[in-house]
Amino acid sequence: NPGDERAARIPRYVRVNTLLWTTEEAIAHYQKQGFRVSDPFSSQESFTRDQHVPDLLLFNPHMQFHNDIQYKTGRIILQDKASCFPAIILNPPCSEHAVVIDATAAPGNKTSHLSALMGGKGKLYAIERDRKRFSTLKTMLAKASCKNVETINIDFLNVDPSDPKYANTTHILLDPSCSGSGIVNRLDHLLESENEEHEEQEERLNKLATFQLNVIRHAMKCLPRVRRIAYSTCSIYSIENEGVVCKALRSEEAGRSNFKLAPPEEVLPSWHRRGLLDESESPENALSSVRCSPNEDATNGFFVSCFVSDRTQAAHSG
Ligand code: SAM
Repeated sequence: NPGDERAARIPRYVRVNTLLWTTEEAIAHYQKQGFRVSDPFSSQESFTRDQHVPDLLLFNPHMQFHNDIQYKTGRIILQDKASCFPAIILNPPCSEHAVVIDATAAPGNKTSHLSALMGGKGKLYAIERDRKRFSTLKTMLAKASCKNVETINIDFLNVDPSDPKYANTTHILLDPSCSGSGIVNRLDHLLESENEEHEEQEERLNKLATFQLNVIRHAMKCLPRVRRIAYSTCSIYSIENEGVVCKALRSEEAGRSNFKLAPPEEVLPSWHRRGLLDESESPENALSSVRCSPNEDATNGFFVSCFVSDRTQAAHSG
């Protein structure tokens, strides 16, 4: 099975939940358990620190952590490397006054990552529309001890711009539903879906792209103090990625609040793979996005861009 072969080349990624202990403590713990710091592919007992994501450890692909006490108690989180990028790129404030929204939050891996980057301080609203997934989100955040998070079971597109509780939001993470076409153990389905009628697939992707664009436009317009919006998908298709970003930049909402893409130096500059030039409006915009290739980067396929506004005071909503 080519999916299994691909998965075997991906390390087991373990994010240390720094709300509960430090990465140094986690490393010491696993060393005490008999692991040693070296290339994770060299043996089952080897692990190392990731070069791009602080607090991410790489273990051998065959390692299982589901019975590990650290996993059961929320001190480690099993999260693909690429899916750690959005929270880092959003770069939420770490202060008592911080107000951040994760607009499409379940199951909550990025929410708990944001909470950790915020040092558990300020307020993080985790919004999720689906009731079942919302319940998973609550369980997961409780396990990870995310004390600055308030979970809300609503449709983000219905967030009321005049609701005072969101008024001071400055940062929003948008990781909306997508085709999931970058997820490694789903790539076989991708081959199967090549048999899907071309038109059917195109229609499905168009619908997703319209929804993704609406979510971004809503984030840009609904809250007056928002300065930074990270947008991500686990899709490999440019229609859901660079395509959506181009349309969002040209939207009335972006124009009204002067949203642009964050410069490349603020978007994980150490990561080599950037947005597709042919699908972006300018070389600068392509450089301002990151991509992960499921075949070449030992991660799932992934895309992240970050919109920033220089507005200093409340813009007009509506
Ligand atoms: N960020 C999550 C994580 O890392 O664990 C994964 C998010 S998943 C890709 C997208 C989520 O958005 C789904 O749980 C979906 O139910 C939710 N969703 C989709 N549309 C929404 C909306 N309009 N408002 C709130 N949640 C929405």
